[in-house]
Amino acid sequence: MQFNLTEEQEMIRKTVREFAQEVIAERASDIDETEKFPKDIWKQMGELGFLSLTLPKEYGGMAADHVSYSIMIEEISKCSASMGNAVAGNKIGQDFMANFASEVQKNKYVESVGKGETIMAFTATEPSGGSDVSAIQTKAVPKDDKFIINGNKIFVTFGELAEFYLAIARTNDQSGHKGMSAIIVERSRSGLKIGKKEKLMGVRGIGTSEIIYEDCEVPAENLIGNEGEGFKYAMKSFDNGRIGIASLALGIAQGALEQATKYAVQREAFGQTISNFQGIQFMLADAESKIEAARLLIYQACYLKDQGLPYTREAAIAKLYASDVAEEVTTNAVQIHGGFGYTKDYPVERMYRDSKITQIYEGTNQIQRMIIARNRLKNYQ
Ligand SMILES: Cc1cc2nc3c(=O)[nH]c(=O)nc-3n(C[C@H](O)[C@H](O)[C@H](O)COP(=O)(O)OP(=O)(O)OC[C@H]3O[C@@H](n4cnc5c(N)ncnc54)[C@H](O)[C@@H]3O)c2cc1C
Repeated sequence: MQFNLTEEQEMIRKTVREFAQEVIAERASDIDETEKFPKDIWKQMGELGFLSLTLPKEYGGMAADHVSYSIMIEEISKCSASMGNAVAGNKIGQDFMANFASEVQKNKYVESVGKGETIMAFTATEPSGGSDVSAIQTKAVPKDDKFIINGNKIFVTFGELAEFYLAIARTNDQSGHKGMSAIIVERSRSGLKIGKKEKLMGVRGIGTSEIIYEDCEVPAENLIGNEGEGFKYAMKSFDNGRIGIASLALGIAQGALEQATKYAVQREAFGQTISNFQGIQFMLADAESKIEAARLLIYQACYLKDQGLPYTREAAIAKLYASDVAEEVTTNAVQIHGGFGYTKDYPVERMYRDSKITQIYEGTNQIQRMIIARNRLKNYQ
């Protein structure tokens, strides 16, 4: 076992860090406040290969490993969780296609998603619930050589912006997870409506909205993989997505710690800098220790994934831990800033709001605990 990053991983950190600090950081507050997606930054990230980092070379990707990917998401999210979320969300959809779609579908979409020319969105969650994916109600009824889709999806990242959507819907009458399939729905299809924009606490500016399928007809060839296997594909995709969300949480936490440290060494109280107080030092020390632990947990999950080994448990642990750390570290970063931390004059206010979602999406942290516990208990039953 060795803990050194490779030359390539170090180079990726340097390249992404420079771009994030020079281009993204100064726009982060604006993205949050205006809720406008910065298409120019997206284009640049596509050109730099950030949106296709782990994609196989035959689809225009760089075929980098997942430690590199985690490093990239951390560096972007240190500056803007919204943009880190956008890149991680892009990979979730892109990998879903790369892993389960036909060659024709891949050739049509994967490369352009990796270049940032086409945006895709993943639509699973419904108003009636997101944790229990097997309870999805949206129906895609096969008719002649088409599917007719009806159902409402909510909280769709890129909902307003996407050129095409992955709908997880019921295609047969089997109950639970067995009757579900994944289907491509192009934005131009009549019957696809962009619903209300979600008014979010954080990760704003990436077009999160409702998507409504209303007698939406798509050709049968838009089915991804096998009919009835949508649930299985979604579960595999969540394992993969959790590495991204854990890395996003890590970046938010690291960014907040850096802001808090900078503030602590210059702010004075009782005639000295607040960094002299043990109460402040302990918050910084706890943050640093937990961030380091989160990073190692994430790299472990990345390593297993890259080796082609099972990593469901490790991805769940990494996502659970990193997101809880992000929430704690950002809370303390606001605390260290005192009243200023509660204003929009300092980025920790935004980081605090952004951190919360990492405990909720890609499976809430209660769901992560269920996965971890299930894995533990199966060895005893
Ligand atoms: C900003 C944002 C972006 C999102 N992006 C997407 C997207 O792109 N595509 C998409 O499909 N979805 C997306 N989601 C949805 C997200 O994945 C869901 O919100 C999440 O899975 C939780 O589902 P829910 O909100 O319906 O909560 P519920 O499932 O209703 O859960 C409510 C509470 O009950 C708890 N709970 C549920 N079941 C159990 C259990 N068995 N044991 C213990 N506790 C339990 C949950 O942990 C939670 O605390 C996004 C959400 C947000 C807020």
